[in-house]
Amino acid sequence: MSILAEAAMPILSAVLSAAETTTGVVGPLTEMTQRAASVVWDTAAANIPRDLKWPTILLTLAIGTLIFLVRKGHGARDADGQERKTSLFNFLLPKDIYTHISARVDIWLWVIERILRPLWAVSLFATVGPVTEQYIIGSLEWAFGATPALEINYAWMLWYSLCTLLLYDLIFYAIHYTMHKVPACWAIHKVHHSAEVLTPLTRSREHFLAGPIWATGSAFSYGFIGGVFAYIFDGGIVAATLFNIGFFSLLFGFNGSFRHYHVQFHYPRWLAKWLQSPAMHHTHHSYLEKHWDTNLAAITSIWDRMFGTLYIPEKDEYTPWGIGPETQGEYRTFWQNTTGPFRDWYKMIGGKSSMAGPVSQDTLIKNR
Ligand SMILES: [Zn+2]
Ligand SMILES: [Zn+2]
Repeated sequence: MSILAEAAMPILSAVLSAAETTTGVVGPLTEMTQRAASVVWDTAAANIPRDLKWPTILLTLAIGTLIFLVRKGHGARDADGQERKTSLFNFLLPKDIYTHISARVDIWLWVIERILRPLWAVSLFATVGPVTEQYIIGSLEWAFGATPALEINYAWMLWYSLCTLLLYDLIFYAIHYTMHKVPACWAIHKVHHSAEVLTPLTRSREHFLAGPIWATGSAFSYGFIGGVFAYIFDGGIVAATLFNIGFFSLLFGFNGSFRHYHVQFHYPRWLAKWLQSPAMHHTHHSYLEKHWDTNLAAITSIWDRMFGTLYIPEKDEYTPWGIGPETQGEYRTFWQNTTGPFRDWYKMIGGKSSMAGPVSQDTLIKNR
């Protein structure tokens, strides 16, 4: 266990003593807090799909090489978001992208995120999660009586995983949509979009105020589904379900880093209608008008399709990254990004708009 996790211990012990007083059906997250603080941390850490690990990096490079071979050197983008043919080394690790100031700022924002993450991750997973879970169990008991205590089988476990995934994705969608549409929230999320090039580290490129918002969403969705299933199965679904959540975060872990890699990984159109391909996130980061505010979910395409924000790009479609030429200059350095939301809120108090506008392709060509 890391020193940082230990720093979060006082919060955990408070939650532990509170959890000991609860009785009745115990859901997975609540039981987790009751067992031992280190278990909470390990499980939460394994289930927060935001880690960049060696297997993920190696898999990313392997798939990148495969795309290079299949497309004969085509398929990677340069720092301007334009497709180009290049040598294998430059295809996998392009100099213009990895020496770009945006990639260097990614590193610092990632370091800050790593330092702060255990604090809010552990505290929110140990509070929002179990509270939501207990509330759901309590409401179901009130509405339908005692738990039916169904027998668990593998089909139920898969069903539980699928429900977790769909709810997680819906909550992610709702938070992400709000961050794009509400100016005060966009001020925070803009830091993620101020990335002018995409690298696997761009995934963690967020303002430090964004971390607790995302963590609350995950803790709530895991707690909600955990509560429903704990009620149906009298809490017995514990071990298997935690493992299953881990399974989906594996999928999400891979998708999360590849979608911030500059190589286009497209899915066939029929599959892209169900799952977000990594290439679909390239358009999410583009400042062209037709790409603005699209592909907001994390894993599936279901919610984007339902709410009309799905955009499946063509192969090699031009995706200039960032927040657009008009305001990009204000979001280049680490300091500019860290102070960004506060500057925007100050402007908003003064009655000025902080919304960077999307750019139409015609305007862009005219200005080049
Ligand atoms: Zn976004
Ligand atoms: Zn992104």
